Order: sequence, then C-alpha cells, then structure tokens
Amino acid sequence: MDILFTPWRLSYLTGEGTKPEGCLFCGLPALADADALIVHRGALVYALLNRYPYSNGHLMLTPYAHRATLAAMTQDERRELFDLAATAEEILAADLRPHGFNMGLNLGKSAGAGVPGHAHLHVVPRWEADTNFMTVVGGTRTVPEELGGTRDRLARAFAARAPRPEGTA
Ligand SMILES: [Zn+2]
Repeated sequence: MDILFTPWRLSYLTGEGTKPEGCLFCGLPALADADALIVHRGALVYALLNRYPYSNGHLMLTPYAHRATLAAMTQDERRELFDLAATAEEILAADLRPHGFNMGLNLGKSAGAGVPGHAHLHVVPRWEADTNFMTVVGGTRTVPEELGGTRDRLARAFAARAPRPEGTA
C-alpha cells in the first residue's frame, strides 16, 4: 500500500486516544463522540466515520447490540438501520456532493468484514474520478480531508436532520 500523509492514522497507530477492548463496535459507544468518530446516536443504531476510509465521508451504521447478521437483528434495528442509511445518503449528498454511493454489508471474515461478528452497513460516497470500491483495497487511499473536521460537520447535520428517537424530542 502506498503511504500517504494521514495524521489521524499516525495518532491511532501510536496509541494516542483510547482503543476499546473486545468487539470494536460494542466498545466505541462508551467513548466520547469525537474520539470514536461517532456522528449520530439513535435509539438502537449509531453512525460513525470509518477511521480507515475508502473515501472521504465513509460512514458505518451499526446496532449497539452485538448482531452478526441482518437476520440476527430485530425488525426495529433493521428498520432504524435502513432509515438511517437514507438519512446518511441525504446528508452526505448535501455535504460532499458525491456522484454516487456504495452501500453494503460484509458479513463474515471471508466476505471481508473488518469486524466479523458485529454487522455494520458501509455508506461510501463515490466520485467519478475516484478509484473502484473493490480495487481500492490494498491500494492507494486518498482522503483529502481530516476526519475530525468531517465528523464535526456531519454530526451537526445529523443533529439537525435525523429523526429523534421516540420520546427524546
Ligand atoms: Zn459487538
């Protein structure tokens, strides 16, 4: 893999900031939003920026509960997951003006899941000139914007637009 200037990655690898024990997606909600790169906390599902993104604005949506597959989720979790995917699509479209999106779940290690055992939906903005979703793995990743600034902006957009969990409005 080509090495690009990625200051956020350096701080991650040198151990600054906390890395939760055990399952990543079970542990991250215990951290502050800015440390975990969380942009939205729903009733059953939360959204965060991928620390190793395929493109700028690469989000992951996942239930708080440890669910290995879509089938293992409750219907309410699935409903909130896909409602949130639609909200993420709108927010990223308005904020980053991508030409398209890849959305998908990698279920199981052989499917390429980075965190097998805790299903998460990738929402990846795409631009016509950027690299292919599949071939980008193992190749050069160019992420022009620092993650912290993107997180702050997207979190504000989610706070303004995402439907509130019932009873918390
Ligand atoms: Zn988990």
